[in-house]
Amino acid sequence: MEYGPSVEDSAAVRDWLARRGAFGHFIGGSFTERGQLFDSRDPATGEVLAQVSQGTVGDVAAAVAAARQAQPGWATLTGSQRARYLYALARHVQKRERFLSVLETLDNGKPIRESRDIDVPLVARHFYHHAGWAELRDSAFPGHQPIGVCGQIIPWNFPLLMLAWKIAPALAAGNTVVLKPAEYTPLTALAFAEICQEIGLPAGVVNIVTGDGDTGAALVAAEVDKIAFTGSTQVGCAIAGQLAGTGKRLTLELGGKSPFVVMPDADLDAAVEGVVDSIWFNGGQVCCAGSRILVAEAVATRFESLLSARMARLRVGSPLDKSTDVGAIVDPIQKNRILSICKAATDVGAELVGGAAQEGCFIAPGYLRNITPANPGFEQEIFGPIATLSTFRTADEAVELANNTRYGLAASIWSESAAVAADIAARVKAGVVWINCANLFDAAAPFGGYRESGFGREGGRVGMLDYLAEPAVEGAVEPAPA
Ligand code: NAD
Repeated sequence: MEYGPSVEDSAAVRDWLARRGAFGHFIGGSFTERGQLFDSRDPATGEVLAQVSQGTVGDVAAAVAAARQAQPGWATLTGSQRARYLYALARHVQKRERFLSVLETLDNGKPIRESRDIDVPLVARHFYHHAGWAELRDSAFPGHQPIGVCGQIIPWNFPLLMLAWKIAPALAAGNTVVLKPAEYTPLTALAFAEICQEIGLPAGVVNIVTGDGDTGAALVAAEVDKIAFTGSTQVGCAIAGQLAGTGKRLTLELGGKSPFVVMPDADLDAAVEGVVDSIWFNGGQVCCAGSRILVAEAVATRFESLLSARMARLRVGSPLDKSTDVGAIVDPIQKNRILSICKAATDVGAELVGGAAQEGCFIAPGYLRNITPANPGFEQEIFGPIATLSTFRTADEAVELANNTRYGLAASIWSESAAVAADIAARVKAGVVWINCANLFDAAAPFGGYRESGFGREGGRVGMLDYLAEPAVEGAVEPAPA
C-alpha cells in the first residue's frame, strides 16, 4: 500500500506521467520534438515512468544559442525584476511541493519523508534566498558582471535540489543557463521546466537538455562561458582536463569520504542519531555523508552497541511509504558498485555488520568494522548505506585519521565540550564542519570542498561570486578623480 503525502498526489503524478509519456528538451521556453528516447525508471519497482530524449550535440548547440540570445535581456533587467522571477519560482515550487516530492521519490527512490521535508522545501528556500541576492547584486558586488551562459551538469542523488543550487545563483547574477540533469533522474527537472513556463520566465533564460554523459560532454565542449559540475571526482577531473586552456570558468563539486568523529565526552545517543542523519540519509547516496565513523576507544563498545541496535530498527522499504527510513538505491549498476566495494573490503579483513543486499535495488544499512586506513572500504567513496567504524585513542590521532583521505568535503564532530569540538574542527581539512549535527544545509551557507572534493562554493555570498566576473580593473567602479 502506498502512503505518500497523499494518495491523490501520487495519482496526480501518475496522471502527469501518463499524459506526457515522452519528453523533448526544454529549449527557448518550449519543449522540443522528442529525439532518440531512453527510459527513466522507478528504482524501487523497475517500472518505466517516462521516456526522455537523449540530447545530441545539435540539441546542446540549440540550447546554448537560446541561452546566448536571452542573456543580454536578462542581464539588463533590474535586480528587483530578476528577483520577482526567482520569488515566483520559489512560490510555484511550494505550490507544487507534494507533486514534486512524489515525482522525486518515484524517479530517485529516496524516502518520501526526505523529498517532502528536506529536498523540496530546500529548493524553495534556495530560490527565495537568491531572489534576495538578485535584489542586492549591484550594491553587494559593485562593478561585477554576469559571466554569460553557464552550462550546468548535475548528479542523481538530489536531482531537484542540485538544480536549485545551480540555477538560482546563476539567474540571480544575471546569467542564463543550460542544465543537464542526470540520466537516472531527469523528471523533476522537466517538471521544473513547466514551472518556468507557468511563471512566464523569459524564453531561453533556463534551458534543460536531458541525456547521459555524452550529452554532458557535448555541453562542456559547447560555446558556454562557464561549466558548473556536480558529480564524481573521475568525471570532474576529465572535465577540468577538457577545459584547460579554453578560458571557460569551472567549478567542481565532487565526491567525499567524510569523517564523523565521536569524542570520549560525546552524548552517545545523540551521536547515534547523527549517524542515522549522516550515512543512512538518502541511503548514503550523499556526497557529504559521514561515511567514516571514528570513535574514541574509551566509548567504542558502548557506542557500537547503541549504533547496531538503532540500525536494526531502521525500516528499509517502499520509498513512497511514510514510515520508510532507507529507500531504494538509484539503479542496479549503483547497487552492484556498492556491493563490490563492500566485498573488496571484506576480502582483505573488514567485517560487514548488516548491509545485506535485498531483492531489487535495496541494501540494508550497515557498517564495516575491523577496518584499516589502507582497506579499500576506508579509502573509496561507497556512496551507499554503508559506513566504516574505526577507533582512535587521542585527539591528535582522531585528526590524523579524519584527514587520512584524498577528499575534503565535510566533517562532523561530536563532543560536549565546545573547546574540544572547535579545536578538532579547526584541524580537520573539510569545506563544511558540523558540530553535534550532520547534513544540515542552508542556502546562506557556502558548500564545497577541498582537494579531490573539488573547488568553488555554492550558497550564500561566496556562492554568488562564482557566477560573477570581477571588475576588469581594481577600483574601476570608483569615479575617476576630477
Ligand atoms: P557522475 O560523475 O557519473 O555523473 C554526474 C553527471 O555528469 C551526470 O549528469 C552525468 O550524465 C554527467 N557526466 C557523466 N560523464 C560525463 C562527461 N564525460 N562529461 C560531462 N558530463 C558527464 O556522478 P554520479 O554517479 O551521477 O554522482 C555521484 C557522484 O557525485 C559521487 O561521487 C558524489 O560524491 C558526487 N556528488 C557530489 C556533490 C557535491 O556537492 N560535492 C553532490 C552530489 C553528488
